[in-house]
Amino acid sequence: MENKKEMRNWLNDFNLSHPLVIAGPCSAETEEQVLKIAHELKDSDVSVFRAGIWKPRTRPGGFEGVGEIGLKWLKKAKAETGMLMGTEVATAAHCKLALEYDIDVLWVGARTTANPFAVQEIADTLKGTDKIVLIKNPVNPDMALWLGGVERLYAAGIEKLGVIHRGFSTYEKTKYRNIPEWQIAIELQNKFPDLPLIIDPSHITGNRDMILEVTQEALDLNYDGMIIETHIDPENAWSDAAQQVTPDALKQILKDLKIRNLSG
Ligand code: PEP
Ligand code: MN
Repeated sequence: MENKKEMRNWLNDFNLSHPLVIAGPCSAETEEQVLKIAHELKDSDVSVFRAGIWKPRTRPGGFEGVGEIGLKWLKKAKAETGMLMGTEVATAAHCKLALEYDIDVLWVGARTTANPFAVQEIADTLKGTDKIVLIKNPVNPDMALWLGGVERLYAAGIEKLGVIHRGFSTYEKTKYRNIPEWQIAIELQNKFPDLPLIIDPSHITGNRDMILEVTQEALDLNYDGMIIETHIDPENAWSDAAQQVTPDALKQILKDLKIRNLSG
């Protein structure tokens, strides 16, 4: 895309001396859970609090998210902590509600990126928004599909765009939940050097013990940020229990990472 140079690097607005840190639970479960985690993360390097409100479950019968009421909790968490709030959107209705509640960061999930009709619907609904919009890679290792998602959002006049690398599904059993296929993210980054690239080690590993190593690998490859699922009681989380870390564990991970200075 010729106009990639015009893409505003919204990351600079954060004025950070380290990569962007997004953290919070896989799913918003209760108001108490959201507020507790947000308060624990308030005085850390976390700039954006994440929580899924609408959960795209691969199979029916699981917890599918608390829905709109969760947006009220996020609004409250923002008022009490000052952190920016982020959630996943998958339909036009989700986008409208998230904008109504003034959610700062909207991300497109991996299952949605795999569906161009859905991405176009999201792009049309968010047309011209000045919210930060992040698009995860599709579930399948298809760079063009990910690129297409970026192009659809950018063509809708959304300037604060970024991409999240959450790994790709494979039928083979590996040590990862979703294999990284680093070269796909790097190729995308080469096509859009101004597009912030964020690692999602939680969904790549599916295992809290591997979060540090995968995040470090990404930072060594010059990634711009990370999104790490963080829960007050990971073992009893209503979704993705094996991969979430406690706020204290997250702070330790942030300490242990050898972090490149963004301005350096
Ligand atoms: C999530 O972020 O909780 C999520 C559902 O992720 P993904 O779209 O990467 O599967
Ligand atoms: Mn999750």
